[in-house]
Amino acid sequence: MSTTTRERFRPPDHPHDHFLLTTTVGSYPKPKWLDQLHDRREGERTAEDEPTPEWTESVTDATRLITAEHERCGLDVVGDGEVRRREMVEHFAHRTDGIEFHGPVKVWGHNCFCKPSVVDPIERSEPWLLEEFEVANEAAERPVKVPITGPYTLARFSFDEVYGDTKTLALEYAPLVAETVERLVDAGARYVQIDEPALSQVPDDHEIVGACLERIVRDVPDDVRVGLHVCYGDYSRLYPEVLEFPIDEFDVELLNGEYDQLEVFTEPEFTLDFAIGVVDNHDATVESVAEIKENIRQGLRVVPPERLTVSPDCGLKLLPRDVAAEKLENMVRAARELEAELDAGVVDVPDHG
Ligand SMILES: [Zn+2]
Repeated sequence: MSTTTRERFRPPDHPHDHFLLTTTVGSYPKPKWLDQLHDRREGERTAEDEPTPEWTESVTDATRLITAEHERCGLDVVGDGEVRRREMVEHFAHRTDGIEFHGPVKVWGHNCFCKPSVVDPIERSEPWLLEEFEVANEAAERPVKVPITGPYTLARFSFDEVYGDTKTLALEYAPLVAETVERLVDAGARYVQIDEPALSQVPDDHEIVGACLERIVRDVPDDVRVGLHVCYGDYSRLYPEVLEFPIDEFDVELLNGEYDQLEVFTEPEFTLDFAIGVVDNHDATVESVAEIKENIRQGLRVVPPERLTVSPDCGLKLLPRDVAAEKLENMVRAARELEAELDAGVVDVPDHG
């Protein structure tokens, strides 16, 4: 299923026979003026269900700016950088009935977030991500990928006073995500990425994630590319179970651990498309093209080039924007150089059977 959904993203003017699909993971540094607007809105707590003309114009401008920046960097599949989202769980929780907020809590890594409390049965209070996609799709010339926080992470990062356990709550979130994907597909989306960062925190819950994914893809047409991104953690606890997930692509954060865990994915043989992070989202030093090529070649130890996708390790949102752009630019140059070398037959590609 995977390689058939990949070819549609090959740009018509792609210069090589080989095609290492280049894309973004999701979040991207916001324009400073938009950050300020987000802060102000948060203070007013008007919620985004009543968008002011200023908000609508600002996020549309920001979307045009970021998709154009991704296209200038040469990405084959672009994103809007999640300019409308302040936080990956809150964004969805604010658009869900049955949820209350009781102020910020401290979380790992980043500062604070307003952890949602489920106090009543959950229901979407408005469409998720539809406008975000439509505006991005309209702005971009290249195809747009939509990252969606997965049901398991939405459940794991909430207080729950209703459902009793993470699995039940996750399975309640799954149809909401499924309906979201369905609407996105109807609106023209052909590449969605489910983000489950919580899975690397409590990795023994892969069964819950698998069940949620089954629900999400149930009515998704075959020509839609479904990716799963799981942030850095102990991947050996979800492999090889991941291979049973109904996805086209598994996107991992391995550069973070200097590819120490790459071996995990070589036995048994990896059968999905493999999306490998090749630029560091934690380090503001821009990697050289040569260095990134080495990182991409790590991926060839897991899959042949026709199943390798190239992306940053994780969302780039904490970097200065010019640094993020330079990283993407070098990433694309590295992929294109390596494709040319693959075409020329001068790259040693390990045998994958
Ligand atoms: Zn991540």
